[in-house]
Amino acid sequence: MGEQSRIFLSPPHMGTEEQELVAHAFASNWIAPLGEHVDAFEHEVARYVGTKGALAVSSGTAAIHLGLRLAGVGPGDLVFCSSLTFVASANPILYLGATPVFIDSDEATWNMSEAALARALREANELGQLPKAVVIVHLYGQSADMGPLIALCEQYKVAVVEDAAESLGADYKGRMSGSLGHFGIFSFNGNKIITTSGGGMLVSDDLEALERARFWAMQARERERHYEHVQMGYNYRLSNLLAAVGRGQLRVLEERVAARRRIYQRYAAALQPYAGITFMPESPTGRATRWLTALTVDPEQAGITATQLIDALEKANIEARPVWKPMHRQPLFAGCRYYPHELGYSVSDELYARGVCLPSGSSLGDEQQERVISVIRSCLSGRAKEVGHVHL
Ligand SMILES: *Cc1c(COP(=O)(O)O)cnc(C)c1O
Repeated sequence: MGEQSRIFLSPPHMGTEEQELVAHAFASNWIAPLGEHVDAFEHEVARYVGTKGALAVSSGTAAIHLGLRLAGVGPGDLVFCSSLTFVASANPILYLGATPVFIDSDEATWNMSEAALARALREANELGQLPKAVVIVHLYGQSADMGPLIALCEQYKVAVVEDAAESLGADYKGRMSGSLGHFGIFSFNGNKIITTSGGGMLVSDDLEALERARFWAMQARERERHYEHVQMGYNYRLSNLLAAVGRGQLRVLEERVAARRRIYQRYAAALQPYAGITFMPESPTGRATRWLTALTVDPEQAGITATQLIDALEKANIEARPVWKPMHRQPLFAGCRYYPHELGYSVSDELYARGVCLPSGSSLGDEQQERVISVIRSCLSGRAKEVGHVHL
């Protein structure tokens, strides 16, 4: 039997119009105003998510960096940040010379815990050390429960930066994920729900702030013929070619959301019956995209650990991954403060110990998905709560 082709976690999935748009970008290189596709991509993303403006940049990380600088974060400041996330949420805090304080998740959304944030803000206020901003991450395509989180931040007058790198297309009570805070960011990295191979977007209703970020993103070059610089800037603008790809991708975003949700439903229908397997819950506050299908494995009931399951999938040439290792567990952030969901109970640690992300790319075929499911079933065999008909 030959080696079966590799199944990836979340590979890029191009639509039909990207090549044509890129060809247009090539053809118009010398005649169109610079960045015609960049401007259009910004408008289209802003319209889709419902913000007044958007700024296209070279990565989601760059967008977080700019958003935090706009929030006034500087050396010596504190910034609160979700602990259960990719390191890109927190690195820009260090770029600005500030200190992160990590906030746990809740079980219902896997995103920032209201209880932990409330405790952290109350203590910070008592110490006279309120943070300049809170970075709220929306994991795996699901919005955090923004209502109470924003209310807390408003109470203490702290800026909210939404890291919606994984949640483009998700909504929260009828508003798009990433559009509720002062600043929101998206990523178009190769593994995200739509991609430009690399890129990001900063969105906001504060157009004046976006213009300042635009200036910083172009080396903070003053409006002079010669090269005049008063402030420190960055080279963070998105290329026009990549913006053309992004416009094509945006046109198929809704299809991509539907495909990822179908993939989740298929996994859930096949695996929900097994004891010890629990899928990331979908919050009743809005549509999740299921960017990645994530689940937890209870080793006592399932008879296998999350790590063993990932190893078994790897043996079958299938890429699966643990849930993000929390930032408060990272050597990089040793010594940073951390607020668990409840005193003595850390949700993100539980999710990291037991969590698995399954291949969820929108181009995943039915047969490929069956391959994933059958490997998992073989690991769980004999452990079904009930084999047979299942109601979801
Ligand atoms: C991908 C990702 C980012 C960073 O996006 P890049 O475009 O790769 O810089 C930030 N936060 C989270 C949660 C992500 O998953």
